Amino acid sequence: MMDRDRRLKAMIAGLSEDTQAIRVGLDRTAEREHSEPIFTTSSFVFPDAETMADAFVNNSGLSIYARVDNPTIDGFCKRLAVLEGADACEATATGMGAVLSTLMAHCQSGDRVLMSTGVFGATLNLVKNYFVKYGIELILISPTDLSAWEQALSQPAKLAYCETPSNPTIEIVDIQALSELCRAHDCLFVVDNCFMTPVLQKPLALGADLVIHSATKYLDGQGRVMGGAVLGRADLIEPVTSFIRSGGVTMSPFNAWVFLKGLETLSVRMKAHSENALELAQWLEQQPQIERVNYAGLESHPQYALANRQAKSGGGVLSFHLRDGSREHAWKFLNHTCLMSLTANLGDVKTTVCHPATSTHGRLDVADRQLMGISENMIRIAVGLESVDDLISDCERGLAALAG
Ligand SMILES: *Cc1c(COP(=O)(O)O)cnc(C)c1O
Repeated sequence: MMDRDRRLKAMIAGLSEDTQAIRVGLDRTAEREHSEPIFTTSSFVFPDAETMADAFVNNSGLSIYARVDNPTIDGFCKRLAVLEGADACEATATGMGAVLSTLMAHCQSGDRVLMSTGVFGATLNLVKNYFVKYGIELILISPTDLSAWEQALSQPAKLAYCETPSNPTIEIVDIQALSELCRAHDCLFVVDNCFMTPVLQKPLALGADLVIHSATKYLDGQGRVMGGAVLGRADLIEPVTSFIRSGGVTMSPFNAWVFLKGLETLSVRMKAHSENALELAQWLEQQPQIERVNYAGLESHPQYALANRQAKSGGGVLSFHLRDGSREHAWKFLNHTCLMSLTANLGDVKTTVCHPATSTHGRLDVADRQLMGISENMIRIAVGLESVDDLISDCERGLAALAG
């Protein structure tokens, strides 16, 4: 390591978070590269049998095999851990891989799992269709009803799980209040922080035990690759690491490199996403064809005070309800826009738009969809970084079509 790298490393922990998001990660190799290298190798070699045995038997820390460890992935984990304020981080192949690994590591047959109704569709399906089959009891609770959480916690529960803001209804869970309840009842509290990212919201600092990410979204930021992460105290991450090693839901080194680069611009992107989303939400709120806009940064949001206290800004995702309740009108709106991409992804510099009831949440039972508040007249927009004037014009095209 060069002397100037050594000096920077000794002081990096004291530098600002934005600086650490750019400078923490991999140590420079003897090649003196500026951008972090991608280690595309399945295994790692040892100079002698003694060193090899030390790595395998005594966990000396040397890389062994890419399902288990890889320097590029470690670099991504270190960088994200600094941002979330976590002791430890594990990366996974997808966001769902992170959800799966967390539940596999921490739950067993007979456990009760409490889950917010406002979670990602695949998360709900994973528990309902698989974990329940192996003897886990699932209890669904409204994200905003603290007394319902408290009541559910009056019986022993292993793990409580939520996302905030919820997708696509943008309801806010009070992380601090719920983490206090969970702590009092000895229940692990897991927050999926995908929508806000650590730039806008830090669940661990508010008392959560574990944070989950779909890195596929804002951590990449340009809709290129898939990945996930789990963060928290080292003793809670260790069983997650064990599961990933055995279960093989490992992140690819190339994807880890994309996420490393994504974290370097995360702070400026999240600010810009939030500014664009707020301006678009304010405009949408004025339109006669729209009944209600759900965005955490709007003063009209029923939980604006909480949202404002808990997160730095509202983030990039909003949803709205058309005044006409039919699916046909929602589809007509979509079909008359053309700048916004008609796709289910979010967290991209390109704005995306979708009809959750027939796309992202289309495979859920009708009853679950109703429980989650996903109606036929709801549209979700994940606001990107195009000019907000052009986004407003695109929405204008969609809304104008509804008049006829
Ligand atoms: C996309 C998403 C996931 C799942 O992540 P994948 O990377 O698609 O597997 C989980 N939670 C939330 C909130 C998401 O938006």
